[in-house]
Amino acid sequence: MESPSEKHHWNPDEVRKNAHKAVDWVVDYLEGIESRRVYSNVEPGQIFSDLPEKAPMAGETFDEILHDMDQIVMPGLTHWQHPSWFAFFNANTSGPSLAADILSSGLAVQGMLWQTSPACTEVETRMMDWLLDLLGLPQEFHSSGEGGGVIQDTASSATLCALIAARERVSEFDVDRNGVDKKMTVYASGQTHSSIEKSVRIAGLGSEQFRTIPTDEKLRIDVGAFEKQVQMDLEAGCLPTMAVATVGTTATTAVDQVKEMAAVCQRYNIWLHVDSAHAGTAAIVPEMRWIHEGVQEADSFTFNPHKWMFVGFDCNAFWVKDKKTLVKSLSVLPEYLRNAATESGNVIDYRDWHIPLGRRFRALKLWFVMRSYGSQGLKELIAEHLEWAQWFENQVLQDSNWRITHLRTMNLVCVAHHSGNEQTEKIAELINEQGEMSVTSTLVEGERIIRFCFGGTQTRFEHVKAAYERLRELG
Ligand SMILES: *Cc1c(COP(=O)(O)O)cnc(C)c1O
Repeated sequence: MESPSEKHHWNPDEVRKNAHKAVDWVVDYLEGIESRRVYSNVEPGQIFSDLPEKAPMAGETFDEILHDMDQIVMPGLTHWQHPSWFAFFNANTSGPSLAADILSSGLAVQGMLWQTSPACTEVETRMMDWLLDLLGLPQEFHSSGEGGGVIQDTASSATLCALIAARERVSEFDVDRNGVDKKMTVYASGQTHSSIEKSVRIAGLGSEQFRTIPTDEKLRIDVGAFEKQVQMDLEAGCLPTMAVATVGTTATTAVDQVKEMAAVCQRYNIWLHVDSAHAGTAAIVPEMRWIHEGVQEADSFTFNPHKWMFVGFDCNAFWVKDKKTLVKSLSVLPEYLRNAATESGNVIDYRDWHIPLGRRFRALKLWFVMRSYGSQGLKELIAEHLEWAQWFENQVLQDSNWRITHLRTMNLVCVAHHSGNEQTEKIAELINEQGEMSVTSTLVEGERIIRFCFGGTQTRFEHVKAAYERLRELG
């Protein structure tokens, strides 16, 4: 008689056979992805009702499961890896990232402490240092000094951790003046990502403590207005705590002036966090490093390799200049997590660098991607995306029906139809309805724009050309 554990688990041969099938399935999917509609057109509730109400009593075969993957799930997918994905920002994956994720899933280690998998911690520390070099970021964040980096799930979490650390630093600094009782304030421009206000809420400050600063003609934060707001808040008895500089805003990839913001932050002891979630990857190309000018003056910096850098979701990179403050703000040590390595002070326990305790071996994705492409390969790929964006922009500049609405800083081109908001919106909807490509339309200061972001792993120049052809046909 077989015991339940002998009977029910896949044996090694089954794991091998089925996992190979899964890989083949994914590769077939990616090879044929272009023939699919980018956006799913299912009705709400369709997928839900196609699934049985209860889990099966008896186990089913992998073939039966894969069959329903095709029948039930696929019609309800939006294909982010489609080569004509120009919407939002990219959420890329790549061959090396996919392979790394398979290994990481198979190892299934928990890297919460150094002791619970030393390699999980040490590969990550090395990868965070590699990324600094790859992007030309300041040595202040390097693990060999007071600073250091950690992989988080998302930029939203990184920003929240920055705020928790900032709160810790400010309340300590201000302890003689009863800073803890004062209302802490957070500053960012009206063009920043919604995750900033969300972290202000989660950290318990409340949305009313979030100050939205006006922007200049390039949609960058107005630094003079920022300083004035800080002074007003000080007069009102508030405690200015953190400011966020956005490098590459979500709507138009505007780039805040980090250096100028840093000068204000230093005058008033405000934590400066730089959110370069999408744009960070651009700095692999040396000519783009201007976007991070002044970052060495910031207290923390974050970008998402899981957007543009061919690393599959989730993989956010977050650095602080002063790791002690971060760790202090997030570390609670219960008896069952005590161990000699931690007590020696010679190791990093990444559980103290973010909100969850458990953590997967995400550094493998970075390692595989950076080794497979090499810094040269990554540079060439990002440079190509920038060239495509420039090409597309040039076509629009010569087009009498379309115009460029906002300064192009990297791989995002913002366009509008000459006859106005209504026509622009109609055409954006039509492009998405047709299903062959995807774009995002948004309102920026009352103006309807269509955003084209060029940065997909599967995208080739022919897709960029087709995108412009489509605009011409429809406009
Ligand atoms: C995408 C984006 C975010 C949020 O990223 P998550 O990793 O999904 O939290 C934050 N800020 C900017 C500027 C972004 O582009």
